[in-house]
Amino acid sequence: MSLFSRVVCTSFLTCLFILPATAGPVQRKARLGEAGKTVAPTITVAVDATEAPRKIFHSKLTIPATPGTLTLYYPKWIPGEHAPSGPVDDLAGLKFTAGDRPLNWRRDLLDVWTIHVEVPAGVTSVEANLDYLSPTAASGFSAGSSATATLTIVSWNQVLLYPKGWTADQIQFTASLRLPQGWKMGTALPILRRDGENIQFQTVSLYTLVDSPVLAGEYLKVVPLSPQGQNPPHEMDIAADSAAALDPPEEVWQQYRNLITQAYALFGARHYRDYHFLYTLSDHVAHFGLEHHESDDSRVGERDLEEADGRKLAAGLLPHEYVHSWNGKYRRSADLTTPEYETPMRTDLLWVYEGLTSYLGDVLTARSGLWTPEIYRDALALIGAELDRGRPGRTWRDLQDTADAAPALYFSPEQWLSWRRTTDFYDEDVLNWLWADVIIRQQTRGSKSLDDYCKLFYGGPNTPPMVKTYTFDDVANALNQVAPYDWRAFWTDRLRSKSPRAPLGGIEGSGWRVVYNDTPSEMFKIGEGDAKSINSEYSIGLLLKDDGTVIDAVQGSPAAREGIGPSMKIVAVNGRAFAAEVWHDALKATKNSNSPVELLVENTEYYKTYSINYHGGEQFPHLERDSSKPDMLSDIIKPK
Ligand SMILES: [Zn+2]
Repeated sequence: MSLFSRVVCTSFLTCLFILPATAGPVQRKARLGEAGKTVAPTITVAVDATEAPRKIFHSKLTIPATPGTLTLYYPKWIPGEHAPSGPVDDLAGLKFTAGDRPLNWRRDLLDVWTIHVEVPAGVTSVEANLDYLSPTAASGFSAGSSATATLTIVSWNQVLLYPKGWTADQIQFTASLRLPQGWKMGTALPILRRDGENIQFQTVSLYTLVDSPVLAGEYLKVVPLSPQGQNPPHEMDIAADSAAALDPPEEVWQQYRNLITQAYALFGARHYRDYHFLYTLSDHVAHFGLEHHESDDSRVGERDLEEADGRKLAAGLLPHEYVHSWNGKYRRSADLTTPEYETPMRTDLLWVYEGLTSYLGDVLTARSGLWTPEIYRDALALIGAELDRGRPGRTWRDLQDTADAAPALYFSPEQWLSWRRTTDFYDEDVLNWLWADVIIRQQTRGSKSLDDYCKLFYGGPNTPPMVKTYTFDDVANALNQVAPYDWRAFWTDRLRSKSPRAPLGGIEGSGWRVVYNDTPSEMFKIGEGDAKSINSEYSIGLLLKDDGTVIDAVQGSPAAREGIGPSMKIVAVNGRAFAAEVWHDALKATKNSNSPVELLVENTEYYKTYSINYHGGEQFPHLERDSSKPDMLSDIIKPK
């Protein structure tokens, strides 16, 4: 999953094959019935999405049952979200019947995602009717806003229940979907037949169904990204809130074609039957990306494909989610690999799952031409600054703990982010995996790189979707096969360090260094504008909304030391009403002044003046070339 650059910016910045028996999260024998035959159930689910613009979905399920208690689960631990984020509070209208008979049900007292249904004698199947109340707030992940007047994303885990006692790859689902009139759709889910807005899908496992969301809309464009007849096929299915948002410059499609060839050059194999980039362009849905084996559910602003600045901000999203098809879906840490959606996930290896994906996603963004080398370096400088000057919390919470605590940190507020820390295994591991890449190149005198590790760990023969699990030791051993080194010690140091300084050894070893000056980079400006924020964290120590409200005051910074904290509002700067220009002018002037910056601040209806003794001017991060070392970074991001 990716939180999309908007969050980074606030804080700074059909295939006809049936899945083989080897597919699915965990290989387990299906339970044997009394006659010695497998009895994994086949469930039908009919989803009526015709009221998607009203933010309500209706679902009807037919579930095989035997008399007694039928225990059903609403999916709780959502793959890729690494948290118990299944939106059970949005499950409504729940009714169970057998024929015309209503059945009694009660929720489990220890787990609100579990429902027990009383099945009377003689009953062999239960019908369940439920509604999913699609949220209206454009925040959160797949459980956030997913429907507008003109488009919707159907996440199957939100509109179904499944029985206890089976793995997700054992339970079979026959799904159908009804769309609003005139809407089109894109999905990796194999289609059996289509009649206008009524789609009947092939029977697949619960695992494949949950892995295959549907993007539908009035304005939906399908862009083939592979030459006709070439296998496997790739396409981008884009739904937007307007037709105008679907027409970027022609070169953009070529850049995404490059992404596919560059990813294949990096990994040396693919593990999907076909691939669908499902791209949602809307200002009214949650913005994030969620990975799947054969597709990704990525959502950005309505104009983020059509307008140049939006494209630069969003450019890294699709490469990140696409890399997950290899790192996260095909290869997954054993701790994150669960048999269904009720078993809790252990998130300790997210520094590989998300961290390496973040590094490789950014590298592929540059290699494919979606970013220029300069923009790649600007983005890397932002990460370096954010994890260094912007993270005093690294002195109490190590990187490992950001992964261990991920199920909570994904939902933490932006206030106190610098001291609390957040899901830093994304950005900090961009720095760490770059460092690992540099070490491999140094140890092998340039004959090997992290690309060789990627081929070794994620390559092999082309396969349909499947899961191969790994442990910490597997990662260290594979790195060692590429370049002998004490990788176990390297990663233990990186993960357990409580140094106040970010791990900048990779940037420095690759021939560059993070520097600060009074001119913001292009990416810095675009990010601030998009987030409607002012980032002065690396100078006076404040992250502000553009109206002067304090989002965060970096612990230990000049502003924090004088008593400023989150949710206060700067009303005036040196006696003049707050405005972005006034603020920037005042900070710039501190360099040549002995006077403190005078701030009039409102805090829960009380006003107070603060004098901040700061004289460092504005401080914006950049990468600067270190000519004493070879320029390895430019080589890393060169197209292969
Ligand atoms: Zn991710």
